[in-house]
Amino acid sequence: MNWINNYVRPRINSIFSRRETPENLWTKCDSCGTMLFHRELSDNLNVCTSCGHHMAISPRDRFKALFDGGIFTEVDVPEPVSDPLHFRDQKKYPDRMREARRKTGEDEAMLVAQGEIGRTPIVATAQDFSFMGGSMGMYVGNSIVAAAERAVQRKCPLVLFSAAGGARMQEGILSLMQMPRTTVAVQMLKEAGLPYIVVLTHPTTGGVTASYAMLGDVHIAEPNALICFAGPRVIEQTIREKLPEGFQRAEYLLDHGMLDRVTPRTEMREELIQITRMLMGLPPAVRGELPAPDQTEALPEPVAAAPAPAPAKEAAPAKAPAPAKDAPKDKAKDKK
Ligand SMILES: [Zn+2]
Repeated sequence: MNWINNYVRPRINSIFSRRETPENLWTKCDSCGTMLFHRELSDNLNVCTSCGHHMAISPRDRFKALFDGGIFTEVDVPEPVSDPLHFRDQKKYPDRMREARRKTGEDEAMLVAQGEIGRTPIVATAQDFSFMGGSMGMYVGNSIVAAAERAVQRKCPLVLFSAAGGARMQEGILSLMQMPRTTVAVQMLKEAGLPYIVVLTHPTTGGVTASYAMLGDVHIAEPNALICFAGPRVIEQTIREKLPEGFQRAEYLLDHGMLDRVTPRTEMREELIQITRMLMGLPPAVRGELPAPDQTEALPEPVAAAPAPAPAKEAAPAKAPAPAKDAPKDKAKDKK
């Protein structure tokens, strides 16, 4: 019996105690079950490093990875009337909103930003599925109108990342009115001759698929994303037939001409740079990062270029260290 106590039990305990590791450090892949370290996962944009399964990513994290240097400016979105119908199901609508705000740290289900990708100015907007299922309410409608107006004003493309369970039922008809409203917003871009690119992420369903998510000039989807109006379960129950394998998934829709591309998230930035530049009639983006204007590079230049700056450089540190730094930089600018 001793070996049970001394060997087997500690082993069992050690297996179970492993589950006590903080949940926020490790994430289990929904698809292959691999335990992924949080940092490794976020470095890979929430794509499983083992099987390539695309997990949800917040709009903010997406924008950090999308824009040059992770720099973007949020675009203000007009705040709509809150709870216009005084809607209540199991919970009051304002309570649900409060809960979603606390959970996500965001005000609403959509984030609008402007910035540059590959030195190409764009306006981007992304829906947050973790905020009440990314549901399209008045705020989401306002966001798309604000994004389209900003894109027209800046004469730049609009890139939209969709993710939604459909319209926000707590806003009833007012949420459905966002379908024609956003369609008009998209039309504004088309009339201005500006590209509108839609990136469909898992899942994009309901009224969102029936309006702005399917009106792009180019439709790109993330692998295995569910994109549909009515979900497969609803269809199966209605027509009482088994649906084909992979039905309404990104790859299936690509094969059937509903999409232009299926692109992994890790390659999305490059692809968007290429497409936006192409549609804007700009030359292809220069590959690689631009050299940072650091001192190690700036210092040897004046020495190699001309003998004249050398004495200045030597003389300057004797007086004060500050002008010495400025001197070579100015010369570097002159040469350019
Ligand atoms: Zn996986």
